[in-house]
Amino acid sequence: MAKHETPTLDMLCNQVLTYYPDVNVELIRKAYDFADRHHKGQTRASGDPYIIHPTEVAYTLADMKLDLASVLTGLLHDTVEDTPATQEDIKREFGDEVAELVEGVTKLSKMTFRTSEEKQAENFRKMIVAMAKDIRVILVKLADRLNNMRTLEHLADLKRKQIAQETLDIYAPIANRLGISWIKTELEDLCLRWIHPDVYSKLSQRVAKTRGEREKFIDEVCEIIREKLTDYDIKADIQGRAKHFHSIFKKMERRGVDYDQIYDVVAFRIVVENITECYKALGVIHATYKPVPGRFKDYIAMPKANNYQSLHTTVIGPYGERVEIQIRTQEMNQVAESGIAAHWQYKEGRFHTRARENVAWVSRLMEWQKDLSDPNEFLETVKIDLFAEDVFVFTPKGEVKQLPYGATCIDFAFAIHTEVGNKCIGAKVNGKIVPLKYKLKSGDTLEIITSATQSPSKDWLKIAKTSRAKAKIRAFIKKQERDRARDLGREILDKSFRRMEHSLNKLEKAGRLNNVMDSAAIRTPEELYVAVGYGRMTPDDVVRRVLPKEEWEAKQPLLHKEEKAEEDKSFLKKVFRSAARKSEARNAIQVANLDDVLIRFAKCCSPVPGDSIVGFITRGRGVTVHAASCPKALDIETERRVDVRWNILNKESVRTHARIRVLSNDTPGLLAMMSQTIASCGVNIASANVRTTKDRKAVATFDVEVTGTEQLNKVISALEAKKGVITAQRTRS
Ligand code: MN
Repeated sequence: MAKHETPTLDMLCNQVLTYYPDVNVELIRKAYDFADRHHKGQTRASGDPYIIHPTEVAYTLADMKLDLASVLTGLLHDTVEDTPATQEDIKREFGDEVAELVEGVTKLSKMTFRTSEEKQAENFRKMIVAMAKDIRVILVKLADRLNNMRTLEHLADLKRKQIAQETLDIYAPIANRLGISWIKTELEDLCLRWIHPDVYSKLSQRVAKTRGEREKFIDEVCEIIREKLTDYDIKADIQGRAKHFHSIFKKMERRGVDYDQIYDVVAFRIVVENITECYKALGVIHATYKPVPGRFKDYIAMPKANNYQSLHTTVIGPYGERVEIQIRTQEMNQVAESGIAAHWQYKEGRFHTRARENVAWVSRLMEWQKDLSDPNEFLETVKIDLFAEDVFVFTPKGEVKQLPYGATCIDFAFAIHTEVGNKCIGAKVNGKIVPLKYKLKSGDTLEIITSATQSPSKDWLKIAKTSRAKAKIRAFIKKQERDRARDLGREILDKSFRRMEHSLNKLEKAGRLNNVMDSAAIRTPEELYVAVGYGRMTPDDVVRRVLPKEEWEAKQPLLHKEEKAEEDKSFLKKVFRSAARKSEARNAIQVANLDDVLIRFAKCCSPVPGDSIVGFITRGRGVTVHAASCPKALDIETERRVDVRWNILNKESVRTHARIRVLSNDTPGLLAMMSQTIASCGVNIASANVRTTKDRKAVATFDVEVTGTEQLNKVISALEAKKGVITAQRTRS
């Protein structure tokens, strides 16, 4: 590693002036003085005055052509953490923007990434959040880490290895993801130096020893390429260079070979004027040297996740060796080197910081971490995202989609459109049907198969790999739960107001719900219903707040009287009321994914345990359970359908109501006989009714409380066995 010159304050100011001619240099001097004053007496591990470190960090940021606030933050980044200076001091002297950046860097600095797994995960999550808030925080932190890595030799061996490992695990991948390749490669080389010192020294010796030979080879190849390109009127800047140690090391590890070929460590870069020239140059290269099959990559048509663009190819060079060549435009070259930092453009007297929009990766992580409760799971996937080799797959129209390694059909479906994802039941990959969990391979052509009745479930979270798909699945599940709570809340309120002789609809339209919403920090009637549905507010609460006190009090006695009268009105009404009140229906039925919901049995079919059943979300009435065979149920649209089943655990305690009709000869003592028969089966009779027909027959109707179809059938058989009974049967109405 070349020993580099320690920058001075003047060098720093001049560097900023090169790209920001009207910068307020006094501010830079002021920040330098502030830092110098506060770090006075402190030294680095090397024995150097501390101020050298923040100056180097600021210089690196200026080298990246970042804005003034970033440079000032570089100078000030350690003052709050390591000196008596406070956040307030920074704010007063340098304003909100710089103060916030310094605060962000300070927070990041307090995180260590080598403690317990969980803490590490939590820290990492915070780092992502900081990054999303202002990406400059991470850029300052990267510059800080780079300088610390450059001066690692002054620390104890164990500490060095720890810091280097952390850098290799976290910071180098982040630099890579942000596309800042020069920081990434320098960090990686420094990590190699401290983690595998023996490998590093061996490599640097060999590279140094073969230097002359290598440079001759580079010059020769550059010259040949230049001539060929000139023949085709392509203006190009051609460079060859030794590869970075870390990438040679990786290659050695991968191939299990020792380093001995000079050619293997050289890469060439051709920078041309525009995209057309890139492909022209590629054609010239391939016409000159035989390309190695399978090594051509078009990152211009398919940019990497960090926006990197280039053509890559490997050819058989003049001495029969493999030569790697990258072809790109000047602009691509700038992005390849500086990544996200290339997006801070100083134009017309101000900085255009569109960088945040360009970091799709960060926003993806952000979207995801919002919904994530388990920090370890978060870390795992962030790690996958950091190190992922992407796969490229195609839509049937030939459009390319880029997804992280391990992505499945679900990820692809959500990458196309949320609705496609929500309705996805599988896919055709290269014409063959595959399940949802199929892991995509580069080059696959995918056609998603959808179904109108499909909807995301919690299981999908295990199959999805991308943050986008996971976030969308979670959002769907949440919305579904919320919708159910809203319907339930509306139902409960509707009922409460009806008892007070009011219509919820009319109250809502008249804006009379606003009172309660204001006092409960709820913004829309819908939110109010959700609050009631989730049980965060009681209906009583709402009624009291909406209706005037006098009215509310006046109607109390009325309410009770009415309720009583209503209860007497009819048997069925009474049954269903009491069922709802005692939560009998709720005990009897389980609704998929929904615990706390008002359940009632449809009056049209009165299902009993043992009947096969379906549930429907009913606006204003919770879930209504019908017999599966009920003709009315078949008419209800499937969107409202929910999975319901009998609660087997409560089998014995549940009583549901059924009606039995008995046709018999009209003989005396008939009703008593039948009642006795029913009671002997252990079944209660809720009501009974007998009428006679013209042909001297009797029709008796019993409403009974049974535990299920089994008991009901027993009663019917017992009745039919009685002398004089012609038929006994269950009836639906
Ligand atoms: Mn620092």
